Amino acid sequence: MTNSARPPSLASMIDPFGRHITYLRVSVTDRCDFRCVYCMSEHMTFLPRRDLLTLEELERLCAAFIRKGVRRIRITGGEPLVRRDVMSLFEKLGSRIGSGGLDELTLTTNGSQLSRYAQMLRQTGVRRVNVSLDTRDADRFRRITRWGELGPVLRGIDAALDAGLSVKINTVALRGINEDEIADMLEWAHGRGMDMTLIETMPLGDVDGDRVDQYLPLSLVRARLAQRYSLTDLDYRTGGPARYMRVGETGGRLGFITPLTHNFCESCNRVRLTCTGRLFMCLGQDDEADLREPVRASTDDALLEASIDEAISRKPKGHDFIIDRRHRAPALARHMSVTGG
Ligand code: SAM
Repeated sequence: MTNSARPPSLASMIDPFGRHITYLRVSVTDRCDFRCVYCMSEHMTFLPRRDLLTLEELERLCAAFIRKGVRRIRITGGEPLVRRDVMSLFEKLGSRIGSGGLDELTLTTNGSQLSRYAQMLRQTGVRRVNVSLDTRDADRFRRITRWGELGPVLRGIDAALDAGLSVKINTVALRGINEDEIADMLEWAHGRGMDMTLIETMPLGDVDGDRVDQYLPLSLVRARLAQRYSLTDLDYRTGGPARYMRVGETGGRLGFITPLTHNFCESCNRVRLTCTGRLFMCLGQDDEADLREPVRASTDDALLEASIDEAISRKPKGHDFIIDRRHRAPALARHMSVTGG
């Protein structure tokens, strides 16, 4: 049953604009084994480990959100699969799927560790994973990720499919970097039964380069694809911000996440928790709530739940990203690796 089909519980979180908050994204680490050019600078300073919530504390926070109406949790990062013992969190949360209040537990990963973890993920109850992949060319892959290797990622995708997981490929559209490869990647993904979603670069964090040069509006990509393929709008939703189309020639689904060319905030059902317990009510705004303090202040959850309520009452109407030559600085100092996208 999807969350939209389920009647909201009495405890449900409703923000000032009447939106039900049913989706929690949890970044379990800010560390990553890649340094993608649009996401991070090459020399990142990561959080000291002592600042991180333990996996038990993260689970307690997730449990509080589930009690308050969250039906879907996505684990993300940094690279979530580089956090030590992260499978124990998947096991605990996976046991809440169904009668424990959770409809779905998913993961966003760069795929580098998937061959090791795909089977285990499936056993914990994960059914869908998003794998971020911007190119299938090994040299380009190294240029984009700075530190990554393509081979293990492709083997990770194979392992996920072999384990029976639905895989969606997330591709950031980058001007002059992968724009000539998008149709090719689409045919490859759909040929293997995977959905694909294209994402616009968002102005988050300093990346040692000029984002104006990387930014490629998806309206342009879509117009180009429409010359080659028949694209039909679909009602299909996964709970995230993507708008989907059916590609007639491949039979597969193609999603578009367009935070810059189209503001999708009116249907936002999400909040984001970081590995230090900061809750961001909007990916594109700075306002946050500290949940580490209430989680550590008392073993009783009353304080924590009151802090969550207070945070939801501050969820903003939307974000306002701009990328153009007059706005060269990032809209937000925070990198995507803090909140996990
Ligand atoms: N490491 C995992 C991964 O690669 O999927 C999870 C975290 S990563 C930050 C989540 C997604 O955000 C990836 O698809 C990545 O390409 C995307 N991303 C990172 N920075 C971005 C930015 N500035 N604009 C748009 N997407 C971005």
